[in-house]
Amino acid sequence: MKKIIALLLMLAMLVCCFASCGSDAETTSSEDTSSVATKTVLKMGTNAYFQPYEYYEGEKIIGIDAEIAAAIAEKLGMELEIVDMQFDSIITAVNEGSVDFGMAGMTVNEERLKEVDFSTSYANGVQVIIVKEGSSIKTVDDLYADGASQKVGVQLGTTGDTYATGDFGDRVTQYSNGNEAVLALNGGEVDCVIIDNEPAKALVNANKGLKILETSYADEDYAICVKKGNNDLLDKINKAIDELVADGTIDTIVAKYIK
Ligand code: GLN
Repeated sequence: MKKIIALLLMLAMLVCCFASCGSDAETTSSEDTSSVATKTVLKMGTNAYFQPYEYYEGEKIIGIDAEIAAAIAEKLGMELEIVDMQFDSIITAVNEGSVDFGMAGMTVNEERLKEVDFSTSYANGVQVIIVKEGSSIKTVDDLYADGASQKVGVQLGTTGDTYATGDFGDRVTQYSNGNEAVLALNGGEVDCVIIDNEPAKALVNANKGLKILETSYADEDYAICVKKGNNDLLDKINKAIDELVADGTIDTIVAKYIK
């Protein structure tokens, strides 16, 4: 009887082991992981609602960040896997190790530098203001005027959110991405949306009757974040970025998406 129980236990353990191996392989790569030559996977955390940096074309996530990341992975001899998540989950995912790095038109700022390390910057960003054509908001200063009451939409956890919440307090409403913020603007829930300039252009092009104010709200640098102290990966990423800048690859990628 004891032998039978021991045998059953062993069988159960074997089944568990196979099951977990199976699911592991599924979440990382569909490639054969038994061969030594198989490339290891480099996981990127992003929020794929940020055109032209990362967005869906059918099932695939494409864009400037997606292509630069693929070029970096190639230099590292690794296979890129992009994991789509809420923007404000990316830093946590990087720190927990569920992704290797975060790349999402992510601005370098003091607050984030306390939590993660950033690579060399590969692009500039500008926080701009989207309004409806004919809006009474003509310049950024109108938002600060005495007795100003305009409502501001932002994307949760972004620098636009942080700065606007600091400046305008409870006049700010957070949405999970730029599309939702613009829907709220169209629906009259908010009077403007503060968001990065390139996604702003894409949103204005896709929605009639909106425009971007000429005065901007903030100037920023985009970079890749890694877990604090992961110098090995950071050095490799920085070296790859330097090479991709030097040989014109990054310019070519940007020019493909930003005309
Ligand atoms: N650049 C902004 C930030 O880092 C927005 C990025 C994004 O929405 N993907 O907060």
